[in-house]
Amino acid sequence: MTDKKVAVSIKDLSVEFSIGKSMFGKPPILTAVGGVSLDIPRGSFFGLVGESGSGKTTLGRATLHAAPISKGNITFTDSEDRVFDLAEMDRKEEKDFRRRAQLIFQDPYAALSPRMTVRDIIAEPLEVMKLTKSRAETDERVREIAARCRLNVEHLRRFPHAFSGGQRQRISIARALVTQPSYIVADESVAALDVSIQADILNLLKSLQRDMGLTFLFISHDLSVVAHTCDTVAVMYLGNIVEVAPPRKLFAAPRHPYTQALLSAIPSLDPDHQSTAIKLKGEIPSPVNPPAGCKFHTRCPHATDRCRVVEPIMRGDAEHKVACHLVDLPVLAQSTATQSVSA
Ligand code: SF4
Repeated sequence: MTDKKVAVSIKDLSVEFSIGKSMFGKPPILTAVGGVSLDIPRGSFFGLVGESGSGKTTLGRATLHAAPISKGNITFTDSEDRVFDLAEMDRKEEKDFRRRAQLIFQDPYAALSPRMTVRDIIAEPLEVMKLTKSRAETDERVREIAARCRLNVEHLRRFPHAFSGGQRQRISIARALVTQPSYIVADESVAALDVSIQADILNLLKSLQRDMGLTFLFISHDLSVVAHTCDTVAVMYLGNIVEVAPPRKLFAAPRHPYTQALLSAIPSLDPDHQSTAIKLKGEIPSPVNPPAGCKFHTRCPHATDRCRVVEPIMRGDAEHKVACHLVDLPVLAQSTATQSVSA
């Protein structure tokens, strides 16, 4: 349940990386995120979807202060209403922020050190950040979060190789939650798991979110995974947000041609289902040299001359927003020439 306060506020954010060297002046710039504004409500399970290369992982990492902010700003408000401006934090604020905002990794096999026991893996953030005063206190915190993540006490003495993928992901989740954060970025956190285990981990994340009042940014390339999990879904393409809506609206009536193509590609279990998958032309363009106008115009089946020149602005209402010239909706009041959305 959301409480209308904003946990993460992203304003006109650009994340750029200088790549390689140029013989003629400035090196090429890769724009991973280009002018995104987005509010993630406190207590929400907010989905971020898009193809590989859309910039969703970089955007998620920027909200954890793990990617450079080239333009714009990000503020994080914790559960005690303390506000952190990610571009302006001193060392103490940085330490406090690290405790309150955590990442759950994609690959439960690579994320856990094979030489550490489960107890030590979960306890490590507490010890590195010096958040407990004694080993007994650390052990108590580890046991408490392990139980919440449905791990047994005897599991804590074992090493990661003794566990299945789902159990390893529960260990990763316990490690992320042991510092009592209020904001979690889950980056493709079920993508490496079997489908039957995915549902188990998603249910665990949802129950932890409810019980602990967490805010989640759930990053996935798979729209079918976010459909039943997220309160709101933002669709990202080549560094921009192109559509934002609750899943029931997004799935019933997607407005952006890119969202329509993504949804049409979800396989059906019905053997009589006639495939109506929209085939997009070519690959996602390079973020080093993105197309002018609407960045989707090189692949969009509805592109017009205007799309090749003019970047669409965000239109819609409080719930459903879309950036496309073909959509006949009011321009959002706070909209800029780039992106502006809030959930
Ligand atoms: Fe397609 Fe034009 Fe809409 Fe972009 S603005 S999605 S190119 S119709």
